[in-house]
Amino acid sequence: MNAITSTRWQTYGISTLKVEDVLSVYSGIDGKCCCGCSGKHTYNPMYVDEGTKKRGYPVKESEVSKRVVSMVLNKVKGSMQAEVDGDMVTTVIGRRLYIVYLRSSN
Ligand SMILES: [Zn+2]
Repeated sequence: MNAITSTRWQTYGISTLKVEDVLSVYSGIDGKCCCGCSGKHTYNPMYVDEGTKKRGYPVKESEVSKRVVSMVLNKVKGSMQAEVDGDMVTTVIGRRLYIVYLRSSN
């Protein structure tokens, strides 16, 4: 389903990632647990159903924000230390860990 998306950024790099490629993002304290107790997961409003399916329980309205998704995506794209790990792109800026979860994994 997302073969084209996946190919584009894998070929041309994470600078070509768009909000449409992102399922959800995470912003939290670096070195701490990523379940959400030390940070926050935010879902792309385009993919609430997909996010709900993937994690197995409903994504709430308070967990959805295109603005936050876009902000975290831009932080990761602008970072020289961003690392791709499967369907995740992660970076640490200061004491904060940012993760972008891509849709290409589904
Ligand atoms: Zn936790």
